[in-house]
Amino acid sequence: MSERRQPFVAGNWKCHTTLAEATRLADDIKRRIGRLRTVEMGVIPPFPFIERVASRLAGEAIQVGAQDIYAKGSGAYTGAVSGAMLKSVGADFVLVGHSERRLIFGDNDAVVSAKLQAALNSGLQVILCIGERLEERDAGEAASACQTQLAAALQDIPKQALQNVTIAYEPVWAIGTGRVASPSQAQEIHFVIRTWITGHYDSDVAASTRIQYGGSVKPDNISGLILQPDVDGALVGGASLDADSFSAIVTASIDSSAEADSARNRF
Ligand code: PEP
Repeated sequence: MSERRQPFVAGNWKCHTTLAEATRLADDIKRRIGRLRTVEMGVIPPFPFIERVASRLAGEAIQVGAQDIYAKGSGAYTGAVSGAMLKSVGADFVLVGHSERRLIFGDNDAVVSAKLQAALNSGLQVILCIGERLEERDAGEAASACQTQLAAALQDIPKQALQNVTIAYEPVWAIGTGRVASPSQAQEIHFVIRTWITGHYDSDVAASTRIQYGGSVKPDNISGLILQPDVDGALVGGASLDADSFSAIVTASIDSSAEADSARNRF
């Protein structure tokens, strides 16, 4: 009988919410889905609200992440936030390589790789975001763009550390645009990613690594995505700012992955 990876659904609140709104959102999410156990969940508030959100979610099955990390640790780096700081306010994981960091803040492959190392060295789990731009997809280079980003980010990461890394495939053209990848477009690249992991690590590592899809995920499109064999959850932006939408995405992920499991076991 094949065992499906447990889905992991995380909500990236980006540069939204005030302290009061973040607290309310955490409380609302907790009330709706805090007790679920067959899915892994995370919320990713802005830096100043991590501690408050972590304390509201203490004891629940919802992890708290950070949206970024500075690679160099503590020192004379005005405005930066280190992994040790994130751990000390209750962060469990951190996003690395989000396309908004790459495109707006200039995080290139070397910076992404350094941040990934720093996060793991600080004892944080990582969601590593990769994904092609529209020009790359149109040129037939979606797969190679993702392979290049993977190779750069994971070049110094040993096999045993990969258990602390989730990959998020986030095509840039789908983020915040309402233009979601079709289930088959997502599956095609997720399979490329898993194949790459097999080649650079081994098939056991590839089989246990979770690969989320991100880009305009909503309650009405998650089911088709999560039914794909290599889609193991979602990284959700806009829809995670609404407790009802985020909760609906989480519960649909459980239902659909259970459905996918039973279909696999029937054949
Ligand atoms: C994201 O920020 O990672 C994201 C996928 O955003 P959205 O769901 O709004 O497209």
